[in-house]
Amino acid sequence: MIKYINALKNSKAFKIIENDINNDTLSHAYMLISEDDEALESLRTLIALRLYCENCCTVCRKCTQIINGNCPDILEVTDEKSIGVGKIETALDFAYLTPTEDEFKTVFILNAQRMTLQAQNKFLKTLEEPQDGVVIILTVDNENKLLNTIKSRCKKIKLELFPKEVIVNELVGNYSESQKEEAAESAEGLITRAQELLSESKAEEIIEALIMLKSSKDVLKVSTLDIWNNLNDALDMLEMVFCDIMYIINGMKNSVRNRKKTEKLLKLSEIYSNESIVNIDTEINKCREKLILNCNPITVLEGLLFKILEVNYLCRK
Ligand SMILES: [Zn+2]
Repeated sequence: MIKYINALKNSKAFKIIENDINNDTLSHAYMLISEDDEALESLRTLIALRLYCENCCTVCRKCTQIINGNCPDILEVTDEKSIGVGKIETALDFAYLTPTEDEFKTVFILNAQRMTLQAQNKFLKTLEEPQDGVVIILTVDNENKLLNTIKSRCKKIKLELFPKEVIVNELVGNYSESQKEEAAESAEGLITRAQELLSESKAEEIIEALIMLKSSKDVLKVSTLDIWNNLNDALDMLEMVFCDIMYIINGMKNSVRNRKKTEKLLKLSEIYSNESIVNIDTEINKCREKLILNCNPITVLEGLLFKILEVNYLCRK
């Protein structure tokens, strides 16, 4: 599945490439720029599809190859940390071979900002003497991280910031329209940021619920909160919150994901212990299994809340 496909298909960024393809004016090299790395990844996949399939149908043989990452005429250069000279040399070798199936080959340098200085210099040679039948596409979070000589030889395409309405339509998960709108409003044009804000707000509600859960009397009240509507998602979030509490207990504040709620997490870290959290985690996994077996989610949730209280009582500090 390609994330944000509708927004990206209609984006100005995608239309630039599309026009170049339609007018037969493809450049030798492009630089796709966005700080939204998920949107950027989808954009470049969509461009790959468009280069080889007019409708980006996502289902034909070519599209399937591209989506599965085994298209013989596409090379993706990427590395978690840094892209060294060796990887660029491999890309250059690939570019010199004739395409196996189509008229041209495509080389993607993903997260091109990770290229070492030597790699950038090596790569520059290819940009200076472009090969026929090769399109080079770099993705980068910030163009200033690359040598000017590289920048000046690529056609730059900056993925635009999206308006609120477009972002709202791309957001997934069990959230109300107003929550989605609020997240889209605060995301400053970045779809992935909006999605993150939504999950942060969900995590915040879960933290509040845990604070509310003091004794068995509170189980009914807590279990009827909206946050549990999609219990599978909520369990993931609950697990993440407990993980944050554990980070705090063990003095690893920098690893906490819900930083804005550190104070409330601190409060919870006084109630829960490493031992109780390990046991609670086991209980959360048991709940997932019960949901797969189609047990009633409300019963599963109530059982879990009682279990959390019980485990925490038995492991009390
Ligand atoms: Zn296709």
